[in-house]
Parts: sequence; C-alpha cells; structure tokens
Amino acid sequence: MSRKPIIVGNWKMNKLNSEALEFMQGIEAHLTGEEKADYGIAAPFTCVETCVKNAKHLIVATQNCNEKDSGAYTGEVSVPMLEEIGVTYCIIGHSERRTYYNETNEACALKCKRLFASNITPILCIGETEAEYDAGETANVIKTQLKGSLEGLDASEVSRLVIAYEPIWAIGTGKSADQTIAEDCCKLVRDTVKDLYDEDTASKVRVQYGGSVKPNNIAEYMACEDIDGALIGGASLKVDSFIEIIDATK
Ligand code: PEP
Repeated sequence: MSRKPIIVGNWKMNKLNSEALEFMQGIEAHLTGEEKADYGIAAPFTCVETCVKNAKHLIVATQNCNEKDSGAYTGEVSVPMLEEIGVTYCIIGHSERRTYYNETNEACALKCKRLFASNITPILCIGETEAEYDAGETANVIKTQLKGSLEGLDASEVSRLVIAYEPIWAIGTGKSADQTIAEDCCKLVRDTVKDLYDEDTASKVRVQYGGSVKPNNIAEYMACEDIDGALIGGASLKVDSFIEIIDATK
C-alpha cells in the first residue's frame, strides 16, 4: 500500500498575520505541486484566512476545533466556521491541549467525528509522557489513547485519518526519539488500528512521527516503513528551515 507522506508544521501560538503571509509566500514560491509528499501548516485561528488565501499547494490546518456547531461556548471555534474559510485539516488532541486544557480521549473522538462529517481531516495526536516511557508504559498508553480517541469512528473515516505519534518527552525538547523507537511506535499505532478495525484500514491510515524533527533528522524518519510523515513544531516556524525539510523529503 503506498501512502502519500504528509508533513505538517504546527505553529502553536506563534505568528502575526504579516508573518504568516511572509511564510506562505516564501514556501509557495518553492513548491511546484509535483512533490511526492503533502506539506502543510497548522495556523492559529487569526492567521487561517491569510494562509488559505495565499495557499496554492500547502495544506492549511487549524490546531483545534469544537465538536458543537454553534451556541453558548465562549472562545470556541466550530467546524462549520473552519469549513467556511477553506480549512482542510485540523490537529486534534495535541499533548499541549491534553495537558493544559484537559482534552480527553472522549473529546478527541467527538471532534474527529464532527470533522469527518465536514470532510476536514483530523490529525489525531497521541503519545506518552517521559514518566510513562520510563515505566515501560508506552504501548499501553498508545493503545488506550487510540481506543478512546477513535470511539465512534468507522473504518472509512479511520482510513482517511492522520495519526501523529508524538512522545511528549520529545516535543520541544531537542531530544528526538531515535529511528527505532519512532518506527516501533508508529508500527504499534498501525497494528492497533488493525486490531480495532481491519488490515485494509491499517494499511491506509497515515502515521506521522512528531518530536524535535529537524531538517537534519527528518530523512531518517521518512525512511521507515510505518512512518508516513511528521508533525513539526519549532522547525516549522522559519521559511528557511521549512524549505530544508521540504528539500530533504520531496
Ligand atoms: C509539536 O508541536 O507537535 C512538536 C512536535 O514540536 P517540536 O517539533 O518543536 O518538538
């Protein structure tokens, strides 16, 4: 099964509109549309429209959504709002949201379900803490988070899903997982999807590795059989560094 790799930058709470515009123009000038991988960025809500208007080849994602369509949910942004402005992917369950905003597996499942109803592809993040890694709990955490976060999703939805395996101890720390750990965990993600669904679904779901991916290590991850791309924080903020990542993977 050949899966198209997908590499997405997560800007987190960074970039003003002017900076987003400069980034989009810089990267779009470098892309031809003939690349073997999909490339994209997950922008803060305030920059999304600027990004969409200036995107020719880049995917524009958001970093969160609410599962409800409208109503008294102060500060939230709904899927129809994202759909209206042309968002096509949305990160769900990033570890920062799970940690700081109590985002649960159940909430992730509801958000993913709602996104699929609007044809926006979720990028579902899972991954263990350093304490869980040290305690040998990684496999349990991966399986539990997947089971809970995929609740209610059917096989046709999961086959279109992107799952980002991001060990929390590697996010923003410069301490990336080595190639073997990253591949083993991404394979476990795929095997878990196979157990929960079937072989066909597991062969289609795209699995990213995330955690201190940089221009100088991305090729190692992309060479792995079960790694179909990367979710990238720090190294996605600068045009030059994102171009180096594109050049290392196209
Ligand atoms: C992330 O934000 O998901 C991430 C992996 O960040 P970084 O690449 O900076 O570790």
